[in-house]
Amino acid sequence: MSGTPALSILEAARGEVVTAEHDDYDRARAVYNAMIDRRPLAVLRARDVTDVRLGVAAAREGGLPLAVRGGGHSVPGFGTVDDGVVLDLSGMTGIRVDPVRRTARVQGGATWGDMDHATNGFGLATTGGIISSTGVAGLTLGGGIGYLSRAHGLSIDNLRSVDAVLADGRFVTADAENEPDLFWALRGGGGNFGVVTEMEFDLHPLDTIYGGPMFFELDDAEELLRTYRDWIAAAPRTLGAFPAFQIAPPLPFVPEDRVGDPLLLVVSCFDGSDQEGARLLQALRDVAEPVAEHVGRMPYPALNGAFDALLPAGLQHYWKAAFLPALTDDAIAVHLEHGPRVPALESTMHLYPIDGAVHDVAPNATAFHHRGARFAPVIAGMWPDPADNEANTAWVKGYHAALEPHTDAGGYVNFMAADDQDRIRANYGPNYQRLTEVKRAYDPGNLFMQNQNIVPAA
Ligand SMILES: Cc1cc2nc3c(=O)[nH]c(=O)nc-3n(C[C@H](O)[C@H](O)[C@H](O)COP(=O)(O)OP(=O)(O)OC[C@H]3O[C@@H](n4cnc5c(N)ncnc54)[C@H](O)[C@@H]3O)c2cc1C
Repeated sequence: MSGTPALSILEAARGEVVTAEHDDYDRARAVYNAMIDRRPLAVLRARDVTDVRLGVAAAREGGLPLAVRGGGHSVPGFGTVDDGVVLDLSGMTGIRVDPVRRTARVQGGATWGDMDHATNGFGLATTGGIISSTGVAGLTLGGGIGYLSRAHGLSIDNLRSVDAVLADGRFVTADAENEPDLFWALRGGGGNFGVVTEMEFDLHPLDTIYGGPMFFELDDAEELLRTYRDWIAAAPRTLGAFPAFQIAPPLPFVPEDRVGDPLLLVVSCFDGSDQEGARLLQALRDVAEPVAEHVGRMPYPALNGAFDALLPAGLQHYWKAAFLPALTDDAIAVHLEHGPRVPALESTMHLYPIDGAVHDVAPNATAFHHRGARFAPVIAGMWPDPADNEANTAWVKGYHAALEPHTDAGGYVNFMAADDQDRIRANYGPNYQRLTEVKRAYDPGNLFMQNQNIVPAA
């Protein structure tokens, strides 16, 4: 660290500082997406708010790039950076559930696995992601889409307050009364405004759910997608369910001779009785018998971890995102053309419904603007072998380009690629101007720029 005096600030930290000489350097600099290969000057494994302030100070004083990492899932690799400081919060995973107020205070490095585990112990939950290793803060700052979105809104709609360290080193609590502009921007604006050290969420009674994956023949995909469109629009908000294209993985409930076949998948999550859940899913069974399924009652965290084994850290990733105002027949035709060509077992297209409670919030009430969209498709290229990079990225790009005429401008920032920076302004629509002003107030030097970046207003 001798060549960069500002890094000596990190010597006061309680957390470990990992530099290139350290045995653990390669592990410390790696993120979830194995396509990302960056060499920071130092990775600070922060242990508390003071460490976070020291990490921010070292980057600011040294004029160094700063990456903030929680779960490390950012597909563009925003959780690491060349020649700069990585503030790794993955050791800050404390969660305190208040079962009386039905809230949880969650540290900035906790994952959804941590959160679901902690809250399920009290029979409570809030909207989070569908893979347990995704960071709570990273996912929430961009919006937060999951099985419970129709019932309880986006993750940001359940956010009560945020503790953050700002670019100038100040520590603030942002909520509806304090720092309201910052609180508005943090709900959808990503990691642009500060380092989140703790967040407080509203929780909802939820213990077990009825649902799970159902795989169907591609021949039935068109009728199923049309049925799904009308079914989900009419379904109670307590049903979360998304269709996907997925190569059948080698799981115990998948017949051996179907493993490796591209199929249409519907994953459901119903907060209600088995009888009512089965009655709801009958609408899909009336179209076609599933090829394979694993539907039943299970703890809510079990469904949120159901795909974990398929997606270990260290795969190659390239993703693109969109918002659909409607699932028209023309949009379905695009899905039917591109979805079945999914080139790898891990790759997929998920079509998340974002109606219900997501639409209860006005488009300008938080930074997340797409409150009128009905679906948020993500085309997620995920594959183990770098030799397949071209085939997989071409599939993602081709699928996305074909879908574009049917989409709203922009795309969900948490699912977007590194080459989507030029879509950011359009993504936030009329909210973009206010975001640039909040950015100017809280981070005029754009210290927090390893994200889908909002440029400070001039
Ligand atoms: C396998 C997988 C599954 C996913 N599933 C879902 C899903 O179901 N729903 C959904 O909405 N999204 C999902 N996502 C997208 C996910 O929300 C984004 O990738 C999110 O940015 C990941 O957050 P992270 O903390 O894990 O990542 P990181 O790479 O650590 O961080 C991502 C961004 O968030 C910022 N950030 C992280 N922590 C903090 C913090 N404490 N303070 C300030 N900024 C911070 C970082 O600076 C960076 O810009 C998924 C992603 C993957 C790879």
